[in-house]
Amino acid sequence: MTAGPGEVFDLIRYGRARTRGDLQEVTGLSRMTVAQRVDALLAAALIREAGTDRPSGGRRPTRLEFNIEHSIVVAATVDTTHSHIALTDLAGRIIDDDSIDLAVIDGPEKVLHGIAESIESLLERTDTPPSRVSGIGISIPGPVDPRTSRPSQPPIMPGWDAYPIAEYLRDALPVSVPVLVENDANAMALGEHSVGFTDCSSLALVKISTGIGTGIVINGRVYQGIDGGAGDIGHVRLGDHPDVVCQCGARGCLAAVASGRAIAQKLTELGIEASSGRDVGELLAKGNVEAMRLTHEAGRRIGEVMATVVCLINPGVLLIGGALASSSLLSGVRETLYPMSLPRATRNLDVRLATMGDKAGIIGMTRVVVDEVFASKAINARLNEPEPVG
Ligand SMILES: [Zn+2]
Repeated sequence: MTAGPGEVFDLIRYGRARTRGDLQEVTGLSRMTVAQRVDALLAAALIREAGTDRPSGGRRPTRLEFNIEHSIVVAATVDTTHSHIALTDLAGRIIDDDSIDLAVIDGPEKVLHGIAESIESLLERTDTPPSRVSGIGISIPGPVDPRTSRPSQPPIMPGWDAYPIAEYLRDALPVSVPVLVENDANAMALGEHSVGFTDCSSLALVKISTGIGTGIVINGRVYQGIDGGAGDIGHVRLGDHPDVVCQCGARGCLAAVASGRAIAQKLTELGIEASSGRDVGELLAKGNVEAMRLTHEAGRRIGEVMATVVCLINPGVLLIGGALASSSLLSGVRETLYPMSLPRATRNLDVRLATMGDKAGIIGMTRVVVDEVFASKAINARLNEPEPVG
């Protein structure tokens, strides 16, 4: 293998090599070349020395690790009724954050203006110079076209189709860094994977909030599909609800029957006020019996569709996340998922509630940014660049 500084950095970042000796062994590079690569990465503060590995006497090799304080990331998650904005270190640990009520139906300008203002006030509040920011990541509750990084006909985000989110934020903010856009379920799946399931080579997360979406992580990477549509299960048509009109305009979609929005509508008909997935989540937390019954029933419908997903990708872990994630939802999903799937597809499947809540999306978006900004190719380009003069 040809191991430039970027490849050496990758080995250290993912913990596949922890010392100079490991690097020599893994790459086959000479001791001198390894020393040069490591020195360049240390000088750029991309890695740091972290004490010793073996306290067993004799020579103690210095342990090398990714310097998660090299710079910071701005990560934001846009939900239908509110947005969460955070400054994080490169491991996704929150330095400071803000939650603001912003409705996606008010359109991209209003929401992105609010987010840009919040980012500026977070930078100010934490005394962070804009030059410390290495990238911005933002997740949205709709599909993202992987070629353009723009929303791709998002059913619950009127006015956002093909909107240049990255360009808007770059223009609005005093930072000139990559802005990456990702689907919210994908970001949550990646966040949960990065923290609790790094050993799982195939993980799916279904997010049930106002809408329904699935994020799929295969071998540590989000699987987006050709048009960013992978996992967008909310608009799969159910056979037995031909009359129910969905927000996307079609009839009989899973989301029209089993989403937070659909449950909120049914609750409203019963005289219980609710309009979003978040409202339903609050009722569930209070133990509202009708909300629990309807959520359990929704879980059963989601389990039917997830049976196909599980048979298709055979994941090791299926996480149930989003505002409606609750024991009512989980038990409903299990009731239909298992009998409708082949035993082989579920015998090693762990179906459980996601544990990180809203933070999963923040950590996932940090990871998306770090994977891009600190990719081995980007590191090689950065370290081969002559230092700017003056
Ligand atoms: Zn639909």
